[in-house]
Amino acid sequence: HFRALVIEERDGKPVSGFKDLTLSDLPDHDVLVEVLFSTLNYKDGLAISGKGRIARRLPMVAGVDLAGIVVSSRSPDWKPGDKVVVNGWGMSETEWGGYTRFQRLKPEWLTRLPDAFSLEQSMAIGTAGYTAALAIDALERWGKIKTGDREVLVTGAAGGVGSVAVTLLARRGYRVTASTGRPETHDYLATLGATAFVDRAELAAKGGALQKERWAGAIDSVGSTTLANVLAQTVQSGAVAACGLAGGADLPATVMPHILRGVALLGINSVTAPHAERDKAWAILAESLERTLLAALTTVEPLSNLPQLAEDIVAGKIRGRVVIDVTR
Ligand code: NAP
Repeated sequence: HFRALVIEERDGKPVSGFKDLTLSDLPDHDVLVEVLFSTLNYKDGLAISGKGRIARRLPMVAGVDLAGIVVSSRSPDWKPGDKVVVNGWGMSETEWGGYTRFQRLKPEWLTRLPDAFSLEQSMAIGTAGYTAALAIDALERWGKIKTGDREVLVTGAAGGVGSVAVTLLARRGYRVTASTGRPETHDYLATLGATAFVDRAELAAKGGALQKERWAGAIDSVGSTTLANVLAQTVQSGAVAACGLAGGADLPATVMPHILRGVALLGINSVTAPHAERDKAWAILAESLERTLLAALTTVEPLSNLPQLAEDIVAGKIRGRVVIDVTR
């Protein structure tokens, strides 16, 4: 027997709780992995707390990330002892995920643990950190943002995607402005590399269709009026990578920044990103993520604390990244 966090239907509603599973309960996929670490992402918070309908099939083992060691494999691509990372691929939505000691997975969902990181570090990064790297890759492929000269904005900066985005951008030579609703995190964000701050409330208030040009680029975790304002404040030929919806899924914007300033809105989807894009993101992380800063933005929590952590992340109270030790 081993413990897992499972979402089940009770009285027509999805309810999460800990359950004992055996290997025979797991899906019949080709690779059995012993899970050592998972993580906490905003989407996990929505799934566990029931505040968002993430699981589309019940019962569901939650957790969008996992890192562990291959126990057995019917695929020639993987052998016992291989260290692997899985981010997304529908885990916690349509496929069983990472909040468990063991999981069976399709071979094509597995990424080999990059040499640059330990299993625990790969989960300190997790979907949130790898999404930040996908966003930077998208901005750099846009190709019109120069390092050093003008500011790049990160919204939801003290959260998981935001914290990793701030430190990666700073290390790659961009001047980083952090937008946060928590002034008490300014010292923390300055340690990660932010050199200026914008109050979250300033970006959340409805603004004009075209505003003073401020940002060469931006990575946005917030959506809604915040994203509309960021687009309206982006310079000629700048780009904004849209990652999240922590402030709302709507986008009350106009086409003006796009048709008068050539601003690009780049969508980021970590769940089904192809392997080539994932490899690029992990290469950016290996190159530009300072290990002491990764440690500084990470806390480790036991599996048993997930119900409370889920409430905390949805309430915007989590700083940086949380690794889940599934053995505790
Ligand atoms: P997180 O750690 O909770 O970070 C979100 C941050 O947004 C919070 O720390 C907070 O930052 C800010 N925020 C929270 N509520 C807000 C509100 N009502 N209005 C404005 N700002 C608010 O979550 P995460 O795991 O980093 O995820 C961030 C977002 O990205 C989520 O929406 C998540 O679903 C999305 N995401 C998308 C992908 C993808 O593939 N596209 C992958 C990963 C995550 P401050 O306290 O600093 O203001």
